[in-house]
Amino acid sequence: MRIQRDGEVREKGMFMCCTLYVRKDFGVVYASEWYYRYVEGNSYLPLTELIEPEDAAYLKEAIQEMTAPVEVYTTFSNHKGSSRNVYLRVEPSDRTEDGHPVYEVTILDVLDLERRRNQLEDNVLKYRYFMTIDTSYYFEYTVDRNRIVVYKYVNERSVTVADEDLDAFVEEYTKDKDASSKLVDQMNAFSSHLKNESRFFEMEFTGEEDGQYGTCGVRGGLYSQDKNVVAGIFSPNRINIKEAYYLTEAAKDAGTGLLNKKAATEYAIEKLAEAGDRTMWVIVMDIDDFKNVNDTYGHLFGDEVIRAVADTLRGTVSQRGIVGRFGGDEFFVLLEKVGNREDLKTLLKTIVKQLAVAFDPKFKLTTSIGVSQYPTDGSSFEELFGKADKALYIAKEKGKNRHIIYEEDLHGAYTTDSMKTQSMAYAMSVEQRRDKLIELMSSLYLQGVRYVTEQPEVQKNLRDLFDLDGLTIYTDGGGKTICRSGNYMRDPADMRELLQEESYRKLFSEQGIFVVSTLKMLKAADEQAFQMATEQEIGASVQCMSCRDEKPCILVSFDVFNRNRKWSNSDIELLGLIGTCIGRMLML
Ligand code: GH3
Ligand code: MG
Repeated sequence: MRIQRDGEVREKGMFMCCTLYVRKDFGVVYASEWYYRYVEGNSYLPLTELIEPEDAAYLKEAIQEMTAPVEVYTTFSNHKGSSRNVYLRVEPSDRTEDGHPVYEVTILDVLDLERRRNQLEDNVLKYRYFMTIDTSYYFEYTVDRNRIVVYKYVNERSVTVADEDLDAFVEEYTKDKDASSKLVDQMNAFSSHLKNESRFFEMEFTGEEDGQYGTCGVRGGLYSQDKNVVAGIFSPNRINIKEAYYLTEAAKDAGTGLLNKKAATEYAIEKLAEAGDRTMWVIVMDIDDFKNVNDTYGHLFGDEVIRAVADTLRGTVSQRGIVGRFGGDEFFVLLEKVGNREDLKTLLKTIVKQLAVAFDPKFKLTTSIGVSQYPTDGSSFEELFGKADKALYIAKEKGKNRHIIYEEDLHGAYTTDSMKTQSMAYAMSVEQRRDKLIELMSSLYLQGVRYVTEQPEVQKNLRDLFDLDGLTIYTDGGGKTICRSGNYMRDPADMRELLQEESYRKLFSEQGIFVVSTLKMLKAADEQAFQMATEQEIGASVQCMSCRDEKPCILVSFDVFNRNRKWSNSDIELLGLIGTCIGRMLML
């Protein structure tokens, strides 16, 4: 079907979503008001006369032996100059007319659906915002499970402050009180309202006589008969209620509204302590060359950039974690609800892409990111933060605009001592990298080239060691691929033609190495190579070519996807060494 945007009808403000009942010949038995308003005088026509002929033919056939719903996307016209793109579903109904079956039809306007979805999304965001401003706590009690959840909105996301058995919850608040205490009575009354599924109740916790706690109004009631949920609000009347610092107004960073360092730290310590064996991620992020932004565009624009990063992080992380600003251009995220590395990478990629397009194209905002994982890398906040920070430092050292997920094997052990100076930590990681490489090279010599070409684990280690996204080894002058490691988006290209090209071969150094840092550079150097890299979404690479009788034979390509890469001299040297070594061994 064609998609057409029908401005005229939309301006009339008619919302299209209707149900009608039809006979087997699609004659309309009756319809909701919207239908009659839209088709005007043509309501006597069978529905099939008002939709695209091929869809009508399909429905006419389907209705003959209909047992399950049948759906089409079609164009619905009133034959009076207006048509709409609709989703249309026909299904058997319980109704009959003069003993004949009657079918239920649902029609939804596709464009209105989109608009409605956007409106709903806007509303959700708006309510989250309201709930963030409010100092109330919300509760939900599930009757079947006798479980109460209490939460508050911080940074436009809900933060659970209790999720437990109702009796345990009551016990917690009343355990050191004597039986005559008002709070004991109030808690019991509250508990009865929940357990008895009161339709509506209103009460007050007046707290202790010594005034340690303020008063708190409570309103609630049965939310939904089906779900057996009693929901409501605690509204503290006085702010001297004891609450975590991160839940208070003082916990917000003034510039961005994110949690400040103290609050985010306090929050992370608390959540990590409760995490058990659930995976969480600690992320530290720092804007690249932010001083230049200030110097070039001024501080006001700098502030805007900081807010944009804050909004992007808040929006992307959303309900999955908490975002804090650790000062200046440094941000912190505790990701609580991302279970695996792939999802983490997708999230980081989304953030990076959003930031890249947040401003004018001539100002490309990039950041460096360090990540550590709970419980793999440690259980204390201090250790996890230290490791994420170390990974961030390495990301900066490697040329910025990237993320590094901490791995002890690659980045060196973290000890508080070694973090005294970060440069020392980095130097250590270079040392470790060398060690790893020596290990790899000696295994390569001892076990032969299969050590690399046939062991995905070794290939992955090699990629991680150099922060590569992909590794491909071509043989037969580029016609055959014997190793393809990493999440390439496409099958490998046939490189034969390209490698035959004199002009392409000239791009390689005497040692047979060609370094691509940006696609722009590749485009200028060789149009065909540029096309091939673009198709495979390769953004930068180090390629090592080995020749026999001056004819290209083997090509080892170390690739990164969709990003530029400023290769350090040591990267080029070491990758060149490994690549040539693999090439030579393959030619033996
Ligand atoms: P790098 O890539 O190594 O991170 O370099 P950088 O220039 O970003 O350096 P660094 O992170 O060390 O410096 C951050 C600078 O951010 C220092 C300070 O001038 C500036 N800054 C800190 N807070 C604010 C702020 O609230 N607004 C503005 N406009 N600038 C800030
Ligand atoms: Mg910075």
